[in-house]
Amino acid sequence: MKWNSIVVKMGSTIIILLLLVLLPLGYIVNQIFSGFYFKEVQDQLNRLSSQYAESIHSLEEQKMLTMYELLGDMTEQEIVIVNENGLVVANSGSPLFQKGSSIEIEMMDSLIRDHELQGLKIEGNSKTRYYIVGKAIYEREELIGGLFVMTSIEGIYESLEKIQRLILLASVGSILLAMGFTFIVSRRLTNPLLEIEKATRKIAKGNFSTRLEVSSQDEIGHLVKAINDMAKELHRNQTTRSEFFANISHELRTPITYLEGYARVLREKRYHTEEEKNEYLKVIEQEAKRMGKLVEDLFELSKIEEGKLELQLEEVHLTKILKQIVSKVKIPAQNKGLEIILSIEEKRFNIIADKSRLEQVLINLVENSIRYTDRGIIEVKCLESGPDVRISVKDTGIGIPEDEIPYLFERFYRVEKSRSRKYGGIGLGLSIVKQLVELQHGSIKVESKVGQGTEFQIFFPIYKEEQQDEEN
Ligand code: ADP
Repeated sequence: MKWNSIVVKMGSTIIILLLLVLLPLGYIVNQIFSGFYFKEVQDQLNRLSSQYAESIHSLEEQKMLTMYELLGDMTEQEIVIVNENGLVVANSGSPLFQKGSSIEIEMMDSLIRDHELQGLKIEGNSKTRYYIVGKAIYEREELIGGLFVMTSIEGIYESLEKIQRLILLASVGSILLAMGFTFIVSRRLTNPLLEIEKATRKIAKGNFSTRLEVSSQDEIGHLVKAINDMAKELHRNQTTRSEFFANISHELRTPITYLEGYARVLREKRYHTEEEKNEYLKVIEQEAKRMGKLVEDLFELSKIEEGKLELQLEEVHLTKILKQIVSKVKIPAQNKGLEIILSIEEKRFNIIADKSRLEQVLINLVENSIRYTDRGIIEVKCLESGPDVRISVKDTGIGIPEDEIPYLFERFYRVEKSRSRKYGGIGLGLSIVKQLVELQHGSIKVESKVGQGTEFQIFFPIYKEEQQDEEN
């Protein structure tokens, strides 16, 4: 186990917390118990010594002294009586004093000075601890002696030690329990983390098919899901990347083959008429254009992705631009037998955009609609939609399968690869469209049904209402 592992960190935190709670708690409990026991003894000795001292009026009667000695014998407390000179005249059996000998001068002094004394006293031989309370005996306000009541407090110390031992045992027990608990919990926590570490290392090495099992619904479960999603996404990116290069080479190879072939035919003069020659030259021109478009799109995309595309944002008259676009694509649409309709609301709006980029976006959408529609109509609409203006391009074409819609705006993503052979296209258009729309603070949405048609909608914040004379 590493010193900086979660088990150690969690374990030491819990133990420190426990100690922070247990140590003061143990101290307080110990203080409460010792205070309680000592107070009991003090109160009892004080009460008894006062009672006894008050009931003595003379030390002359031997009978009375013997009675106190007997009383001491019968109870748990020892009783010692001294005369006014500090000489022990009665002792029920306390080993601290000797009958016939004098008590310490300091004791007698404090009796005379304070009329009482109390404290701990240790017996020399057995080291037994006694609590002793002394009271001065007065007769008609004249000191005639002193009375001491004492009791061994070894029992109290034993009880306290027992309590301390119990507190210690409970503390050690709870620390051990906490350690066991920490170990189990952190094991359960770190095992999946170690699995995650292994998996992410594999993913980092490029093994994107690595997946982790989601075994809980907590934060770790969410992390596992996020890592699985990341691996999936990387896998898809990897596939898209390989497809990206395959696509580029394929897209370049086709026109190059045409260019080579037709150039050779022309060089070897393998044509019969001037018309045939022009036909071949047209193919060369078209393929060169196609190559140019591919290179242009790639360049454009890389510029956008690197954030190097500079936009000329200005106020744009939407009606004007839409009319221009529709008239531009009318001929290609008619050539395919398609009708193209432009419907604009009575209220018309201006937006802030880059005119030529907006045109590029709209042309792309309309051209796609023409490309992927074999019959029917293409409708270009411009409507108010809350704070935005919504431009929609709707067709009655082949549509897009629902599960492919989320990937539509990715580079080189082409719906059903077989389509592209029939309809052409390299899958860069929509990716460029989306990024251009977003760069102009807009958003794009698509709705589609296979066999029924597709509608692309772009939204831009309305800048202001269009003036009538701005229309044309
Ligand atoms: P492409 O150059 O291949 O058209 P795009 O990025 O413009 O690339 O479009 C991506 C894919 O989306 C296309 O392969 C096509 O299948 C699909 N698509 C785009 N517009 C339409 C549409 N109006 N109707 C049907 N499918 C469309």
